[in-house]
Amino acid sequence: MPRTVAMPPMDRPGTDELVVRYRLITRRALLEAAEAVAQCAGRDPELFAMQASPMGDQPNRAERRALAVCAGCPVQPLCLVQDMRENGTAFEVRGVRAGLRQVERRALHLELTRQGLR
Ligand code: SF4
Repeated sequence: MPRTVAMPPMDRPGTDELVVRYRLITRRALLEAAEAVAQCAGRDPELFAMQASPMGDQPNRAERRALAVCAGCPVQPLCLVQDMRENGTAFEVRGVRAGLRQVERRALHLELTRQGLR
């Protein structure tokens, strides 16, 4: 029969402490993401603000260049949320952001507004 060894009591975190830890992680992640978005937007405005191609057309060369930058960006979701919140109307949405073209984000902005989601 295996011998039972008495283990010393472990100091485990309580739920309240875990909630505080979780909220700090979330807040830190959001702050880091917001910082990354801010740095990107200020890095090269010319890269992301271009003559937009119309809905139904393929992205033009300038859009493709910006979309390629966004493709590897880890903060795309937050970038999109910020873009939808920052622009009061769909017509203020400009250029490429969050891996989406102007026409795509304008359509999204209109739909979110229609559904009362922004
Ligand atoms: S998703 Fe695109 S526009 Fe947004 S921060 Fe990333 S690279 Fe910049």
